[in-house]
Amino acid sequence: MTARHEGSARRLRILEKIRANVTIEDEPRPGQTTPCWVWNGPDSGNGRGGGYPRMKLDGQTVAVHRVVFTHFHGYVPGRKQIDHTCRTRRCVSPHHLEMVTHRENMKRRDRAAQEDAGKDGSQGERKP
Ligand SMILES: [Zn+2]
Repeated sequence: MTARHEGSARRLRILEKIRANVTIEDEPRPGQTTPCWVWNGPDSGNGRGGGYPRMKLDGQTVAVHRVVFTHFHGYVPGRKQIDHTCRTRRCVSPHHLEMVTHRENMKRRDRAAQEDAGKDGSQGERKP
């Protein structure tokens, strides 16, 4: 078996592991054309940058939305951030994830915060 085959088998195992912890919602949320994939596994806790899906991969804890993004769309450079277009932190749908700069992410966060001011008090915090 070539390295290439082993690589894709690993990708599929990772995807299976993610699917086992995800509930795909019945209906798209407002503003979306596809339903959210809501993570049921562990997350990054309640503090700053909290509430994002986490999983163990080869002994390390990783951000699930970054794993999903990489699987479907390709490599994420270290300084890039993954934004949720559905503004649902626990969502890991590849259709709702977009790679952005920190600057763009902050801009969108401010805009969203203005749109529903004070809803969850999370404005100004960094995404992992
Ligand atoms: Zn979503």
